[in-house]
Amino acid sequence: MVELKTPAELAIMREAGRVVATALAAVRSTAAVGVSLRELDEVAAGVLASEGAKSSFQHYHPHFAPTPFPAVICASVNDVIVHGIPSDYRLRDGDLVSIDFGACVDGFHGDSAISFPVGTPRPEDVTLIADTRAALNAGIAAAVPGGRLGDVSAAVGRIGRAAGYGIPQNFGGHGVGRAMHEDPSVPNEGRPGRGLPLRPGLTIAIEPMFMAGGRDRFVTDPDGWALRTADGSRAAHMEHTIAVTDDGPMILTTP
Ligand code: MG
Ligand code: MG
Repeated sequence: MVELKTPAELAIMREAGRVVATALAAVRSTAAVGVSLRELDEVAAGVLASEGAKSSFQHYHPHFAPTPFPAVICASVNDVIVHGIPSDYRLRDGDLVSIDFGACVDGFHGDSAISFPVGTPRPEDVTLIADTRAALNAGIAAAVPGGRLGDVSAAVGRIGRAAGYGIPQNFGGHGVGRAMHEDPSVPNEGRPGRGLPLRPGLTIAIEPMFMAGGRDRFVTDPDGWALRTADGSRAAHMEHTIAVTDDGPMILTTP
């Protein structure tokens, strides 16, 4: 069931989104060659504590995973697409890092992700990240009253396919609200003019994830969480939680 939010609920979600953006900015400014993924998780946990917010990720246990998620961020490096568990791995020069983070304030969630290079960036990574960001922005721009959910999916997928990237199937955006994952599902490919009509109060996470190798195949790590490109190519992931409003799309996960 799709739950439309009231203006008062949107104000709470905006606050959750502010905490998410604050934590992601803190993680990004800490990430550097030699810093471990676990240290990045501690930075994000510190923001949650100082803001009095709860983690959306820690202890989250979806049907596909064998164990609850053990951290507050997902840290996905290089060929890991999403859902990487923060480890003692220390970032190396030229790594491509994706950080996904969710926070809950007064019962409402925010969910956002960023990808960025560490140290000396590879030019092809810079392009992959820029294209993934462009797809996110195109998806957000399509989230207007009178449109359809397929417009958002199509806008995202068109940019990924035009650039020749692979797109993992069965993982993508989703409704956000009292649960981090709620209806509707927001696939990263679709047909314009099809699907759920977009109405003011609809809150969704839009999250393109593109694989540089161009194949759609991915594999799951033995931990049951991390999704990795099957061909070893690198992947990027960008996400915002947004609201459809009468004034157009409103990004909730910004400072
Ligand atoms: Mg996320
Ligand atoms: Mg999400």
